Amino acid sequence: MQIETQYSFIDGEWHPGGETFDSINPSDTSDVIGRFSVASVDDCDSAVTAARSAFPEWSLSGLEQRKAILDAVGAELIGRSEEIGTLIAREEGKPLAEGIGEVARSGQFFQYFGAEVLRQMGEFAASVRAGVNIEVSREPLGVISIITPWNFPIAVAAWKIAPALAFGNCVVLKPAELVPASASMFADILARSGLPDGVFNMVHGPGNVVGQALVANPNVDAISFTGSVATGRHIARAAVENMTRVQLEMGSKNALIVLNDADIDVAINCAVNGAYFGTGQKCTASSRLIVEAGIHDEFVERMITATDALVVGHALEPGTQIGPVVDGQQLNKNLGYIQLAKEEGATVATGGDKLRLVTNGYYMRPALCVDTSNAMRINREEIFGPISSVIKVADFDEALSVSNDSDFGLTSGIITTSLSHATHFKRHTQSGCAMVNLPTAGTDYHVPFGGRKSSSYGPREQGQYAKEFYTTVKTTYLSA
Ligand code: NDP
Repeated sequence: MQIETQYSFIDGEWHPGGETFDSINPSDTSDVIGRFSVASVDDCDSAVTAARSAFPEWSLSGLEQRKAILDAVGAELIGRSEEIGTLIAREEGKPLAEGIGEVARSGQFFQYFGAEVLRQMGEFAASVRAGVNIEVSREPLGVISIITPWNFPIAVAAWKIAPALAFGNCVVLKPAELVPASASMFADILARSGLPDGVFNMVHGPGNVVGQALVANPNVDAISFTGSVATGRHIARAAVENMTRVQLEMGSKNALIVLNDADIDVAINCAVNGAYFGTGQKCTASSRLIVEAGIHDEFVERMITATDALVVGHALEPGTQIGPVVDGQQLNKNLGYIQLAKEEGATVATGGDKLRLVTNGYYMRPALCVDTSNAMRINREEIFGPISSVIKVADFDEALSVSNDSDFGLTSGIITTSLSHATHFKRHTQSGCAMVNLPTAGTDYHVPFGGRKSSSYGPREQGQYAKEFYTTVKTTYLSA
């Protein structure tokens, strides 16, 4: 069967590129989802030029025009969430319900920022000088490069693109090469939304060519990136060369503390949800389960039962709870960490092996490692798969200290019925998001999101805090 090649979107047109690459279904590698042409460095430069040319008009566009476009994009995403969610499930491998949820949430990002368009307020200050007044206002930055990972093909792009456009910026999106079909469907919605040509552009291709071209271009005013720490560091270094503003959301090693006084049902639900849903391929996943000694054995026993009960399968199959790993490389990486866990002296209490199902996909059983210490590499390095480790601790103080002993600080959680421990935890946990009696994964769309240490760099994303990154402040002095 002839597969039609899909293009990048530059200056209001679908633009053919050079060589092509295919998107493959990780639940069934015989299913080729689409073929995409790689943008050249010149194409990337053209996309930035188009965005730069569109910026003067778009930055001064009427607020109601902007709001109407964002609302319409949001409504289309929500209205088509089943159709687009099915494509995400097919392309990325998250179970259908999670794919549909991701698209609906993406629509909510657009509708939220549609409302924010009308809330762009400045400040007024009296001057220390007689007869002078001061205004503090915000202006858009210009051209924003948005570089996104594969694990939330539309949501991450949505939570960056919506505020960028709301505040009057133009955008060039570079989606991950593993999920070009989802990105193209999303780009098609933006292409038909009434945005003037050049305000939104998307370029397909590998990060080290296409992403790199967007990072190196001195006409880019800001780069918002979500992905691995290694790529984030590289982007930050390159951005400094051009004095380009950067916002980086990167890796994690999130801890969920379970205290002796925890409601065990809540603990198991939160741990299973946080550790394994989304195949553990979430930056907010609970990869370290830090458990107080008194509840440790019961917790481990119940976790083994709950983990074994999870249904691993084709992402589109009804009843599937855990889909495949995104590709063969990530599967091998996960299996390598299982081997490493054993070499480091951990016990793999359940799972961690490759699964062969009816279709040829990248399946593995979710793994629970026990007898682990926080010093082991499996507890220090981000794995990004359905693998979680239990670390046994003597008391709350040790639990908090182990939780904070990490290079990362995105989310953390505690399961406890003690108000005093919960209060102490939320004040002293060294993470950007703190969860009490909730999974470490799962955040709202109208409040800030981001982390500390190597997890994040630059201003927070989402909610009203998004304007810190997508606008620049002007202080105006007026004398009558
Ligand atoms: P990568 O860092 O490999 O890739 C992220 C994006 O950067 C992709 O679009 C990639 O392109 C691109 N890229 C790669 N190299 C370069 C380069 N030299 N210059 C510019 N762009 C480049 O991460 P993954 O896609 O593997 O995503 C997984 C990571 O994302 C995990 O570490 C996870 O923790 C993190 N993540 C963080 C979140 C957060 O909010 N903190 C949320 C979600 C994920 P391509 O892949 O096409 O080559």
